[in-house]
Amino acid sequence: MMQQRQIGNAVIEFDRAATQAAYSNPGEDWLCSCQDCLNYYAAAPNFPTEVIAFFDELGMNVTKPSEVYDCSFQNDLLQYCGFYHLYGNIKYTESSKLQLADGFECRFSSSLACVPSTFSNNRIQLNIYFTVPWVLDEPRQEPIPIILSKTKPNILQKLLNKIREKRFPKAAQK
Ligand SMILES: [Zn+2]
Repeated sequence: MMQQRQIGNAVIEFDRAATQAAYSNPGEDWLCSCQDCLNYYAAAPNFPTEVIAFFDELGMNVTKPSEVYDCSFQNDLLQYCGFYHLYGNIKYTESSKLQLADGFECRFSSSLACVPSTFSNNRIQLNIYFTVPWVLDEPRQEPIPIILSKTKPNILQKLLNKIREKRFPKAAQK
């Protein structure tokens, strides 16, 4: 059943029960096993209560984003961007972000990306901008910049060789 609410600077029509059903039956393509995503899933149950209540009200499970990715990592804090999906329609929204709590902003969007196959029609997207601590026991492995790993595979090796030459000039001559 659709209900309509004003949420911050947006007016949303949403179907809480249908969204809850989708989240309780995630498809295999829904969750990811990379380290940054695992950190997000682990941290999500301890998000501020305002954030968890907001997701619950709309029928979404905050621990199951459709997609998250890191925008920056500093001082053990990851700035995540990402998407959640829910059944509904956007009646009205402003482009400004809605602040749920300190470090937790979001915005409704009718353009879609990475929608899990579980969802059929009439879904809308919530874009999130969340600042989340690193909570996993193991340290974060910095992803190798794509320019080094794919397009110019030799650059990294050359850099390493240069460092080695400077530090261990004798070994490098062998
Ligand atoms: Zn991932």
